[in-house]
Amino acid sequence: MGKLDGRVVIITGAARGQGEQEARLFTAEGAKVVVADVLDDQGEKLASELGARYVHLDVAREDDWTAAVDAAKEAYGRIDGLVNNAGILRFNSLLDTPLDEFMQVVAVNQVGCFLGIRTVGPHLAEAGGGTIVNTASYTAMTGMAAVGTYAATKHAVLGLTRVAALELAAQHIRVNAVCPGAIDTPMSNPARLDPEADAGEMSRALDELYRKLVPLGRVGRPEEVARLALFLTSDDSSYITGQPFVIDGGWLAGVSVI
Ligand code: NAD
Repeated sequence: MGKLDGRVVIITGAARGQGEQEARLFTAEGAKVVVADVLDDQGEKLASELGARYVHLDVAREDDWTAAVDAAKEAYGRIDGLVNNAGILRFNSLLDTPLDEFMQVVAVNQVGCFLGIRTVGPHLAEAGGGTIVNTASYTAMTGMAAVGTYAATKHAVLGLTRVAALELAAQHIRVNAVCPGAIDTPMSNPARLDPEADAGEMSRALDELYRKLVPLGRVGRPEEVARLALFLTSDDSSYITGQPFVIDGGWLAGVSVI
């Protein structure tokens, strides 16, 4: 028996990285997954490998959400879960950040999460309840120089998570957030996008960097975040809602002076 047998789950940003691993694990656990992304070729390929449904969904666009939900209902008749995973990162100091760049990150990371909750929530209620997992970040819990826009949006994702948990509990919808530290995906390891580059070598370099920063001594793997998202989507977390779950190898625990 799978932990998600018979459940229909929409995962945004699922063409690669953490979302891809969530789509793979959720499928293996019996879910019918809707792979949603703006990377159509990669998303279609993954969905066809998994026997899942692909939908083009720019999470910042209201109309795309409506169409994605319609496609999920048409394919599977119901929706039981949502993983708001899509996100983008831009490096800049606050004083150097153009407004356009700030608004672009807000549109995807923050507005995307809001639209997901607002559009999918009623369908979860219609199904008798369900789960929403929002992807925040280590930077939702603390500051990090040079990623101020990103950190602001991830703090906002936690606010949305808590309020949605309060407002949707009566409809048996649980809402939680994952807060990953550094995870080895194209976001933190762009070499993964370059067919010429040695992604393995870049991963080893990341491990070396995080050996000094993170108590567990390495960068995280997207499969590890997927297991946390599975926990929060399955009945294993049946009495948990409104909470941030940090998955960062101990990074946020503090600093070592020796
Ligand atoms: P990634 O860049 O590999 O994946 C992000 C996915 O989101 C991609 O498939 C991309 O096409 C999709 N996406 C981007 N804009 C979109 C949009 N407008 N609509 C729909 N899809 C869109 O990175 P990842 O690490 O897998 O990121 C997944 C989530 O985890 C993001 O929310 C990210 O902010 C968060 N996160 C990542 C890390 C990390 O170190 N990798 C750490 C903390 C949080």
